Amino acid sequence: MAEIQVRNVSKDFLDASGKPFHAIRDISFTWVKGENISFTGESGSGKSTMARLLIGLERPTSGEILLDGENIARWSYGQWRNHRTKIQAVFQDATGSLNRRLSVGHNLEEALRNLTKLSSGERKQRILELMDLTATSRKLLYTPTKNLSGGEQRRVALLRALAVRPDYLILDELTSGLDLISQKAIREVLEAYHREYRCSYFLITHDMKFAYRLSQCIYELESGQIVNIGQSNIDINSQERK
Ligand code: ADP
Ligand code: MG
Repeated sequence: MAEIQVRNVSKDFLDASGKPFHAIRDISFTWVKGENISFTGESGSGKSTMARLLIGLERPTSGEILLDGENIARWSYGQWRNHRTKIQAVFQDATGSLNRRLSVGHNLEEALRNLTKLSSGERKQRILELMDLTATSRKLLYTPTKNLSGGEQRRVALLRALAVRPDYLILDELTSGLDLISQKAIREVLEAYHREYRCSYFLITHDMKFAYRLSQCIYELESGQIVNIGQSNIDINSQERK
């Protein structure tokens, strides 16, 4: 079965006085392709570190992370580059992944040019399809990225990651700090996209309603350990399209 298996992963950092501490402490879980999971927990509990481990921005101090049986914790930069269409991530500071000098359309196009082998025509087609699927106005494509509000920038960073059609997508507090309308807009983009492509989300969120609505399993972290696992019986795939 296609899945990501996190097995006994720990990640140590040095604290301010130079002493090692466990940011992640012996965590194991399975993220099955097609399923969504959520991580929640207080600030500093290790959520972003887990996300960074999954996308290869950090390496575990011990343990392994298997993607379809391959230990991605050992992948080189080159191996990661070749798998960028498998796993994508959008971090809280979404603007970091966008080029502010380019229009939204150019930003999406650039991601596809760098990460896929699509022709110019196919890239345009893919972007238009994505705009329609996610009910995003095509007018947005011509807007300079620097003119967008915070909520719109997060939405564009999300679209940029979705355009690549990853199998797995990590979303680190994507809706935190946004107004309710922007939060709902992002949730609807995620729901529509998941229904169409069965992309698997790893959601880091404090919004439990959002977590239970979108994911099957909700893990609560405390001091780098899983202290609680919640199950949702809401089936996102059977929810009606709005
Ligand atoms: P969360 O996302 O749940 O708020 P983080 O994963 O960002 O938590 O951080 C977990 C702990 O690890 C925190 O104590 C944080 O200060 C520490 N930490 C994260 N990254 C580093 C780093 N590169 N070096 C040292 N400490 C770090
Ligand atoms: Mg964080």
